[in-house]
Amino acid sequence: MAAVKTALVIGGGIAGPVTALALRKAGIEATVYEAYEITADGVGGQLTIAPNGLDALGIVGADDAVRAVGLPMVRTIMTDGSGRRMGEFPGLVGLPPSRALWRPDLYRALHDHALA
Ligand SMILES: Cc1cc2nc3c(=O)[nH]c(=O)nc-3n(C[C@H](O)[C@H](O)[C@H](O)COP(=O)(O)OP(=O)(O)OC[C@H]3O[C@@H](n4cnc5c(N)ncnc54)[C@H](O)[C@@H]3O)c2cc1C
Repeated sequence: MAAVKTALVIGGGIAGPVTALALRKAGIEATVYEAYEITADGVGGQLTIAPNGLDALGIVGADDAVRAVGLPMVRTIMTDGSGRRMGEFPGLVGLPPSRALWRPDLYRALHDHALA
């Protein structure tokens, strides 16, 4: 069987650019196809990437780009709409902090890194 040299990645959101980077690292040239003609800049809310996610991004060299657009999160404090404190959750003991970021910033960092 011939070795795989090229691949199509369907979806250019968060996983798409990272998959393309991983394929390239494995010697496979990937083309990412996105259904929307416009980018997702400015669309979305907040999300968090845990240390294992950052480690995975490090394998494809995208961890620094993502760290640069996120805030280190050592604990989470929940409040209601009026600001009343509902609870507090500690971070993961013995691990580097998770990264809290805006989905559009994560999207842009991964998109730019994959293009570069
Ligand atoms: C615009 C947007 C905003 C989001 N905002 C948040 C948020 O604020 N907080 C949060 O926790 N999660 C958010 N999510 C979801 C989160 O990004 C994903 O669940 C998670 O990152 C998984 O990434 P993914 O690449 O698997 O999926 P997504 O990030 O959803 O990316 C999938 C991509 O595939 C494209 N696609 C789908 N079908 C096809 C097709 N047939 N052909 C070509 N392209 C296709 C979509 O247009 C999309 O760009 C958002 C998703 C999107 C699309």
